[in-house]
Amino acid sequence: MQVLKFGGSSVGTIAAISKVIAIVKARVQTKPSIVVVSAMSGVTDQLILLGQTAAQGNEAYQTMIQSLAQKHEDAVLALLPSAQQASALSMVKALIQEIESHCATIFNEGIFSLRMQDCLMSYGEILSSKIIAAAFEAEGVDQVWLDSRAMIKTNSTYSSAVVDRALTNQTIQVYFANPNNQHALYMAPGFIASDAEGHTTTLGRGGSDYSGAIYAASINASILEIWTDVSGMMTADPRMVNNAKEIPKISYHEAMELSHFGAKIIYPPTILPVMHARIPLWIKNTFEPAHPGTLIENESPKDNNVIRGISSIKDICLLSLEGAGMVAIPGFTKRLFDALAKKQISIIIITQSSSEHSISVGVSVQDTHLAKIAVDAEFEEEINLQLLEPLIIEKELSIIAIVGEQMRNHPGVSGKMFSVLGNNGINIRAIAQGSSEKNITAVIEAQDVQKAIHLLHEAFFETAYKQVHVYIAGVGNVGGKLIDQIKKQADYLQNHLGLQIKIVGIANSKKQLINLEGINLSHSKDSSNNSHSKDSSNSIPWADQLAAASSNTIHAGTIQDFVKAIVNHNLRNSIFVDITANASVADTYAQLLSHSVSLVACNKIACSSDYAHYANLKALARKHHAAFLFETNVGASLPVISTLNDLIRSGDQVNKIEAVLSGTLNFVFNHYEGGKNGKSFAQVVKQAQEEGYTEPDPRLDLGGTDVMRKILILAREAGHPLEMEAIENESFLPAPCFNGSVADFYLELEKQEPHFKQLYNAAAAAGCKLKFIAKFESNANGKMNAKATAKVGLQHIQPSSDFYHLYGKDNLVLFYTQRYPEQPLVIKGAGAGADVTASGVFADIIRAARA
Ligand code: ADP
Ligand code: ASP
Ligand code: MG
Repeated sequence: MQVLKFGGSSVGTIAAISKVIAIVKARVQTKPSIVVVSAMSGVTDQLILLGQTAAQGNEAYQTMIQSLAQKHEDAVLALLPSAQQASALSMVKALIQEIESHCATIFNEGIFSLRMQDCLMSYGEILSSKIIAAAFEAEGVDQVWLDSRAMIKTNSTYSSAVVDRALTNQTIQVYFANPNNQHALYMAPGFIASDAEGHTTTLGRGGSDYSGAIYAASINASILEIWTDVSGMMTADPRMVNNAKEIPKISYHEAMELSHFGAKIIYPPTILPVMHARIPLWIKNTFEPAHPGTLIENESPKDNNVIRGISSIKDICLLSLEGAGMVAIPGFTKRLFDALAKKQISIIIITQSSSEHSISVGVSVQDTHLAKIAVDAEFEEEINLQLLEPLIIEKELSIIAIVGEQMRNHPGVSGKMFSVLGNNGINIRAIAQGSSEKNITAVIEAQDVQKAIHLLHEAFFETAYKQVHVYIAGVGNVGGKLIDQIKKQADYLQNHLGLQIKIVGIANSKKQLINLEGINLSHSKDSSNNSHSKDSSNSIPWADQLAAASSNTIHAGTIQDFVKAIVNHNLRNSIFVDITANASVADTYAQLLSHSVSLVACNKIACSSDYAHYANLKALARKHHAAFLFETNVGASLPVISTLNDLIRSGDQVNKIEAVLSGTLNFVFNHYEGGKNGKSFAQVVKQAQEEGYTEPDPRLDLGGTDVMRKILILAREAGHPLEMEAIENESFLPAPCFNGSVADFYLELEKQEPHFKQLYNAAAAAGCKLKFIAKFESNANGKMNAKATAKVGLQHIQPSSDFYHLYGKDNLVLFYTQRYPEQPLVIKGAGAGADVTASGVFADIIRAARA
């Protein structure tokens, strides 16, 4: 004998039932079969709603019965030849009349008891199994309808009745031993049973799987097959994880743990009966019958998978009993568990601190209220004596579990699990590991569950690549170039570094574009679209999507809205990239870092603000395991900060830094020849701005503020708590230049041409060039002290100086350190420009992604 169970989706439509009929017809040729079916999908929920509606005195229940009748009549008409339709339709009609009469009672009494609920729910399975039985009858299959209510006997706990296995075994065995009951096919409704008084009971939602297992174990079937809508058990719920993988083989224990911790594919009690009888259990796909599916058997396969799967349960609450007096209360744990058991509250996980000052249990959220009353009543005396606190309840939690029998032979599994979660800012409220080491479970906040499942799946099953979610604020010149670079490099990063970079959010000062599937990285319509998104509306290039404002994925909003969205998305491996020069964007860093969002900043404002603020951001990044990188704050993509970091981390100390840090100023003084080449100082500055080498307000460059910020950041990264006010700045710009708008500034520059000519001529007369130099000195031979100084200003540079031959928009940084005391460590190259700045930001993104 063999047992095949078909779930709700396998009998949910006429097309699906036709597939079931084809599968079963082929199978009954080989062996007699018991076929257990669920109600058509959605019907059980509809029956509950029906009862509730009637109980509320709402006559709408009658229309609901009509649609239920229609659904089943349609199935009869589609599945049966016309000659057999009449008797099947009258069978359906009779059952619907029974439903009507139950509902009329509920309507009149205004009561929908659990016993009545079981009675009403049972019609779902009775209807589906009888219709399918009639279809087989019409096909000429030797079949009989088996009333599971007569076969499976339970106690009277309506809605989740406990099966009396001994009595059930006996009843089923007696039935099958009778020579008059020999058929090719036995069609049985799943889910339903009856109690000693003959009232209908049900085995818990999803319980048809269990019915299949009970039949299989009672008759010692050769096999139990659970046919559903996916090709077997998977490494995670495929609705949550796109990359979930099929599991070809799994042990009974592993499958049991996965289902206990929420894998809906199989109802948890199903496994035990077949495990005891050593009956192989297959999960198969009705819609892809040739697929082998999953075999659940005794042994866990010896393969490379340390863990077999990941599952989760939503809507958990944690109940904790605490109190210094707990150690002294005899039988304390037993009393707690008994109090919960008496109220039929099932405990999903238990954790107890070894000091025995607290014990926590995870239960389903709907049991919370009852649990609180029961436990506080049980321990009333101890609570009054202040030996215990009243039961503490924490809500909005979820459980995640990793499962695998092999983990007991592999150290470090829990370490990996918790570091992956911790590094992404997921707070763990409780941990439990069965002593048999088949699972590790953690209680986390409900809002983190999706992220946690993805992270764990990636860490344990997807060695291929790590997915990184990038949000960009500021998509001007540099941002546009950055997006182009990421697009171009996407395949390389995936193939060589195992990184899949998805840009999921883009914002400028007015609008925001968010697409969690990944924004189309094409810049304009004519460029090729190699977006990694499946969303068809996403074929529009990002710039056009951002410019439009009608679709619901596009919001106008402030930076705060953007950041709120990032925090709400709560995506794993998130990186926020700030390519603005905006203070309000910089103000969001602390919030982002606190949510473990890594930060890549081109914007210098945060790192050059108060020292305390800068130090706090660094501390937040450390605390929340987020990267905080800002290489492009100094020298665009030149490796200035990373080199300095490497020196300091490896124990070097900085004595002095001398540098040309403004590509803009270098460009300006390299192109200004006191008017000799026909260009006024104002014209040269304008050219620098047009070529993209200046801040939006060029006075930030020319006035020295930008260079001050840069040397300040270097000093801080070298370990000195310097403030901006401590930096000397001898400005070469006459005071009136600082008044008014950028346009006013250019007019003033023209007026001041003689001043700039004079600066140039004085240097030229001494055989020198003009360079704007930043200098930092520790004044303590590299050691930390408060006497460190920094200054910036225009200097005459002799031909013998390293700075003399510095062309175009280049930067030059000289690090004099304890290891490089005489001959400095030199970094030189282009220090401004959209392309190089974008590449510096990109390099930081990759660093953050790999951290
Ligand atoms: P049926 O109606 O056939 O009983 P269910 O809806 O009860 O089917 O169970 C099948 C569903 O279980 C799948 O469609 C899938 O969405 C879900 N599921 C959850 N976890 C897993 C998992 N680990 N592997 C496979 N499917 C899973
Ligand atoms: N029809 C029942 C339910 O929806 C039982 C099952 O499908 O297994 O829960
Ligand atoms: Mg199911």
